[in-house]
Amino acid sequence: MPEVEILSASSEQLQGLPLVGSRIAGETVADPSAPTSQVFDPATGEVTRLVAHADAATVQRAVDAASAAFVEWREAAQNRRFAWLMGFRERLVAARPALVDLIIDEGGKARPDAEGEFNRTLDGLDSAFSMPVALQGAYSEQVARGIDTYALPRPLGVVTTITPFNFPLMIPVWDAVAALVSGNTVIHKPSPRVPSASVLLCEILEQTGLPVGAFNVIQGEAETVGLLLDHPVIQAASFVGSTPVAHEIYRRGSAAGKRVQAMGGAKNHVIVMPDADMPFTADSLVSGAFGSSGQRCMAVTLAVAVGDAADRIREEVSSRIPALKVGAGRDADSEMGPVISRESQQRALDYIEKGVAEGAELVVDGRALAAERAGFFVGPTLFDRVVPGTSLYDNEIFGPVLGIVRVETLDEAMDLIDRSPYGNGASIFTGSGLAARKFQRDAGAGMVGVNVPIPVPVNSFSTGGWKASVFGAHGLLGPEAFRFYTHQKIVTVRWPESGAQSMGMAFNPGR
Ligand code: NAD
Repeated sequence: MPEVEILSASSEQLQGLPLVGSRIAGETVADPSAPTSQVFDPATGEVTRLVAHADAATVQRAVDAASAAFVEWREAAQNRRFAWLMGFRERLVAARPALVDLIIDEGGKARPDAEGEFNRTLDGLDSAFSMPVALQGAYSEQVARGIDTYALPRPLGVVTTITPFNFPLMIPVWDAVAALVSGNTVIHKPSPRVPSASVLLCEILEQTGLPVGAFNVIQGEAETVGLLLDHPVIQAASFVGSTPVAHEIYRRGSAAGKRVQAMGGAKNHVIVMPDADMPFTADSLVSGAFGSSGQRCMAVTLAVAVGDAADRIREEVSSRIPALKVGAGRDADSEMGPVISRESQQRALDYIEKGVAEGAELVVDGRALAAERAGFFVGPTLFDRVVPGTSLYDNEIFGPVLGIVRVETLDEAMDLIDRSPYGNGASIFTGSGLAARKFQRDAGAGMVGVNVPIPVPVNSFSTGGWKASVFGAHGLLGPEAFRFYTHQKIVTVRWPESGAQSMGMAFNPGR
């Protein structure tokens, strides 16, 4: 749930820091008297900027700008939109160093994770090049005598995208391209913890030939989101974030008559079979659990070891952890950065303490790092003998904490996945095709991997889980994203044949 502290305008903490504003129709809107929140450098714990939260008047200004831009953009021919996409990609790539630096500065990621985010941003963007086919529509001739029926994908109008802190660039870009290529205009609200990448993204988009106001950025948190969800002009909301907020966004947006997709949190299980290649599996678990400091919706959080796999995987994983280089993202050799905030750090530390109190065995304790460093660091942590019904097992920690769960059979392991309220990702590591096939068919999650720790699909297969990991179907990429960002207009046409003879036309069967 939200932990962003909103400061009053008179607060002394406001003095002297740069103020990040909203960006509407090519202009920065940063009212110094607006409520603000702090943006931290997670590696040092210092406040680096403030972000001005948008009020009702600012939201209305964005809605007006996006509505005006929609009049032109919905008429833009497909070849113009396609050319726009190519031009945008070029400019985005040219801005790579600045965007990666912002991901590191505000998000705290180690450079390889930040570069990885940029690469995945492009992967998703590239899926939008399927636009000429994806937006083709459909045609059925002679559905009844003299009657043809066809489907036209039409843009929705002004849409809003609300995104989490952990991918400050990737998710905003994925949403933006799918929405814009489909002919909509966008009001985007990033996480107030990482507001600057979205502002730079907006400035880049302003140089790509879009109508003025086609893409706008609104800063803020719950209150601003409420204004967006309740606004009658906004037709759809695409949300990615934690499950409680996703549920509320889905409820409130749907009640206001909007189309809503709301991706939520996760607790991802990885099954380790006794016949798995243990060194390879351990490498995968370490990168899947501790990459981006465990702050990925697809992070590996539970390694479910079957039979005698448990002792071997514990040994392999625990021997790798001391070699992981934890440090500031901007340090060249860092492999794992801090978590996003003091609250996230404390939450991870609390879960570690609860894990010990509830009887799990702490194999590698990452808590010392929190005391040693000024930033929001938690060292990679490994538990063994984690069991369902405990805090460690049941909750999304969103930090670098991996738990080993011991079971006797594959069926038992798969039951655990089925019983989880979440259903984002799940993987199996095995040498058996039979076990893998059973797993891929029956595992109760939306994204499933075989010998792959983070089975996020690439390109035109959309990301998206099941159960409490998503509310409202659809997706962020490829054909599913286009379906979300358009509504179908089904046209039924008849040209009566009664006038044919007088026009010299004959209807010859078989011609
Ligand atoms: P969050 O839910 O706190 O915030 C997400 C967005 O919602 C932000 O823009 C935030 O400003 C806004 N927000 C926060 N509280 C709100 C409220 N009460 N009402 C309305 N809006 C509110 O999530 P986060 O901490 O930024 O991101 C981490 C979470 O996102 C994790 O749970 C992670 O699993 C999830 N996530 C899911 C996916 C996915 O594809 N399923 C991808 C990335 C992250």
